[in-house]
Amino acid sequence: MNVAIRINGRAPAWPVLLENEHPFYAPYSPGSLASVSYSILAYEESVPENKLWETVVDAGHNTVPSLIQHGNRIPETILLTHAHNDHVLGVDWIVQSYYFKHRKSKKYPLYSTKEVWYSFIQLFPYLQDIIAHTELLPGRKTLIKETGNMFVTAFPVYHGESARGASMLFFEGEGLQPAIISGDLLCPLLRKKDYQTLNRARVMFVDTNNRYPDPLSNHTSFTSRLPGKKEKADKLTMWFNSTSLKRLVDPHICSNCHTSIRHYFDEFMTDWKQVSDVPHTILELNKLLKIPEVYLVHYFGYYDRINYSEDLMNTHMLEKWANNCAKEMNMYEEIFKVPQVGELINL
Ligand SMILES: [Zn+2]
Ligand SMILES: [Zn+2]
Repeated sequence: MNVAIRINGRAPAWPVLLENEHPFYAPYSPGSLASVSYSILAYEESVPENKLWETVVDAGHNTVPSLIQHGNRIPETILLTHAHNDHVLGVDWIVQSYYFKHRKSKKYPLYSTKEVWYSFIQLFPYLQDIIAHTELLPGRKTLIKETGNMFVTAFPVYHGESARGASMLFFEGEGLQPAIISGDLLCPLLRKKDYQTLNRARVMFVDTNNRYPDPLSNHTSFTSRLPGKKEKADKLTMWFNSTSLKRLVDPHICSNCHTSIRHYFDEFMTDWKQVSDVPHTILELNKLLKIPEVYLVHYFGYYDRINYSEDLMNTHMLEKWANNCAKEMNMYEEIFKVPQVGELINL
């Protein structure tokens, strides 16, 4: 059996703002405008078109047209990193396809943290009765039953107060190389020991909304430096001075929380002393994780333009720029890539 990740889309919430153009996104291609989403697929090597199972991670704008274009099958299950529109708008279409296929007698399996589920159900209350939800607990390995042999662990991230329960997802299992899908994040909320788990990953897909820091956008940036300089951006320093670890943790804490959630964050608060110690950029994160292949997705670029007067980039420019930045920081070279929509990456 082979397992691969297919890119169903790689765009942020608003890849091309109306009345604008963006060199990264082709305006007439639905695939190009599709929100970031992935299918993890298993298939026999001899018959790659015959999929044994497929699990989708996030489904936003144009995810379903992309699924129709690439094989047109109903995924066995969906996993959600968080419940922002560009990650969930396609869920209804997938769930209804399954519900009709099974003559309205079978609930669709969906995995996420409880806080993501609550936010999702507020957006789509009518789906509550036709989805079978499995809760992901932070740092706890869960079997995705529909795959038979793949496990997922949700690791909390901070992505603003509106992204309650947001998590990066770590996949592992027999016959596949471990992989990380970051979802959207400003910073990960990992305990020190989680870095040992995560650095087993061979591949990571990471939110690259911004090249340069803008913590108030609730997205990480690629580098902490100012454009063309070695100094750290003031925006990061201001953020570190104005926030607390407790504030980062708050979107994960609820009144009737599972005790293991509180326990996870007690450990997190013990491990880290201040917000500035937590990695806030892709370069810092990968310095700790040392993942050999990192795919950049969810590129927006408009914050770089507003804050730093930096031009928007196309795919080739972004890839080249990212690898040059890494080189300047004496990190491994050429590990950063921009994936193509429809591209299959073997695990
Ligand atoms: Zn997003
Ligand atoms: Zn988001």
